[in-house]
Amino acid sequence: MSAIASALQGVKQRIALAAGVAGRDDRDIRLLAVSKTWPAEALREAWAAGQRAFGESYVQEALAKMQALADLPLEWHFIGPIQSNKARVIATHFAWVHSVERAGIAERLSQARPPGLPELNVCLQINVSGEASKHGVPPEQAAELARQVENLPRLRLRGLMAIPRATADVRLQRQQFRRLRELRDELTAAGFRLDTLSMGMSEDLEAAVAEGATLVRVGSAIFGAREKF
Ligand SMILES: *Cc1c(COP(=O)(O)O)cnc(C)c1O
Repeated sequence: MSAIASALQGVKQRIALAAGVAGRDDRDIRLLAVSKTWPAEALREAWAAGQRAFGESYVQEALAKMQALADLPLEWHFIGPIQSNKARVIATHFAWVHSVERAGIAERLSQARPPGLPELNVCLQINVSGEASKHGVPPEQAAELARQVENLPRLRLRGLMAIPRATADVRLQRQQFRRLRELRDELTAAGFRLDTLSMGMSEDLEAAVAEGATLVRVGSAIFGAREKF
C-alpha cells in the first residue's frame, strides 16, 4: 500500500472512531483531502486509494493540477481566500466553495457560474474565534449573508465553514466548533436549509466530529507536513 493510501486509511479510522464515541454514523462525515502544495501525482495516488474530493487554496496551483488530472472524475473544493478577480475562474472550475465571506464575491461567483454546470455549492466562512486577523464573517452577520447568497440564482447555499483559533486544548477546540454548530442551528430555525458543517482539520478533527462536523478538511495527516504556506 502507498504511504498516502495508508495515511488515508488512518484518517478514516480516526473519523470512524470519533463518530463512534459521539454516537454518530461515520457515513455522515465526508473527508475532503486538502491537497494544496502537493503535486498532481500525490492526488492521483489518493484517487487510486478511493479519494474523490480534493480541497485547494490557490487558484493557479489548482488549475494546473486539474489539467494534469483531467482524466479523473474528481470533485474540486475551493477553500482559500477569494480575490474578486479570481471569482470567475473559481466559479468555472470548482464544484464547491467553502470560503464565501462577502456578498459582493457571492454575486460574482453566481454571475460567473457557467449555465451548463449545476449550481455552485457554497459554504459561508464564519469567524468563530473573533480574531481580527481571521477571515470569515462574524456570526452576527451570518444570517444576512445567508439571505443574500440564497437569493443568487447560480449558487446553492449548503452550510458553514470555520477555521478556529489553533489550540491543543480540546475543550477550546470543541467550544469553537460548537459555536459553528449552534449558528447552523439558529439559521436552520430561521428557515435556511443547511446540510453541511465544514470543520475540523488534521489536528482537531475528533473535536469537530464530536460537535457535528459533516465534512472534515484534512491535509497534512494524509499527504505529510507542508514546507510552506
Ligand atoms: C490547509 C487547510 C486545511 C488542512 O489543514 P491540515 O492541518 O493540513 O489538515 C484545512 N482547511 C483549510 C481552509 C486549509 O487552508
